[in-house]
Amino acid sequence: MIVDIHTHTPQFRDKVPEGLRKLNSTWRPDAVRPVNYSWNEYLDSQSIVDKSVVFGIAWEPGERVGSAAGPRDVGDVAEGVNDCTATFVKAYPDQLIGFMSAHPYDIALMDEMERSRVDLGLRGVKLGANYQSFDPLEARALAIYAYAEKHGLPILFHNGTSAVKTAPIAAAHPLIVDEIASRYPDLKIVMAHMGHPWTVDTVVVVRKHANVFTDISGLFYRPFTAYEALIKATEWGVLDKVLFGSDFPIATPAETMAGLRGVNAIVEGTRMPRVPEDKIEDIIHRDSLSLLGLI
Ligand SMILES: [Zn+2]
Repeated sequence: MIVDIHTHTPQFRDKVPEGLRKLNSTWRPDAVRPVNYSWNEYLDSQSIVDKSVVFGIAWEPGERVGSAAGPRDVGDVAEGVNDCTATFVKAYPDQLIGFMSAHPYDIALMDEMERSRVDLGLRGVKLGANYQSFDPLEARALAIYAYAEKHGLPILFHNGTSAVKTAPIAAAHPLIVDEIASRYPDLKIVMAHMGHPWTVDTVVVVRKHANVFTDISGLFYRPFTAYEALIKATEWGVLDKVLFGSDFPIATPAETMAGLRGVNAIVEGTRMPRVPEDKIEDIIHRDSLSLLGLI
């Protein structure tokens, strides 16, 4: 079983209409990737994994459109981000598990979380306090964590830096998760991207809290960062809590697997430590759904 714990909801059920395709050349140093894409493009990418967790990002109320490139980007889901995810998941229930997103400034926040969980069948929460521009320890954000803990919804946080101009970097620092996990010890948390470049900060938070995990998405295309992150996870004994994820559309599962399997290449011919190969296979085949209480 291969689970991709980190993918983004397609904006188009059918082909991306002529002239509306948008590309991003800043996400990755090595590739230009589509910002918007169809259900089929998504499904093609995910055909080599068994299950994918999929989600959008809820922008601040009043912002009609947004994407990982910024809250005014035209490339992402316009509105109804949770409906968009739920519609897609309902069409492919054997392959997809949907997470909701929420914004703490939404005056209907609790109603939207309840609707997303009960009516839409979404089973976790995606948050990116930097992209969504909120303080992850303010009262309205804490209400999200309390609801998620109460109802057994795992939260996947964007952790790590971002070049998006409107995104305050400090809001996604991994050490903030230490505080959240301390206050909500039964809440399952996934810290995305191993918190790059603060990977050792992520590793120590994961080590400290039984219900905190991290995902490998978005790392392989910076080979030293990826190597360093996994060596730190090895030395601090948390490799077993590293989950497989691609961050599609930014990368595909196939690229991510190849990147993981090649993580030791940059130290070939040296005496630098290696990430154990069997542990790399364990990451790819990790039963993340069980770990997060999703089956
Ligand atoms: Zn992502």
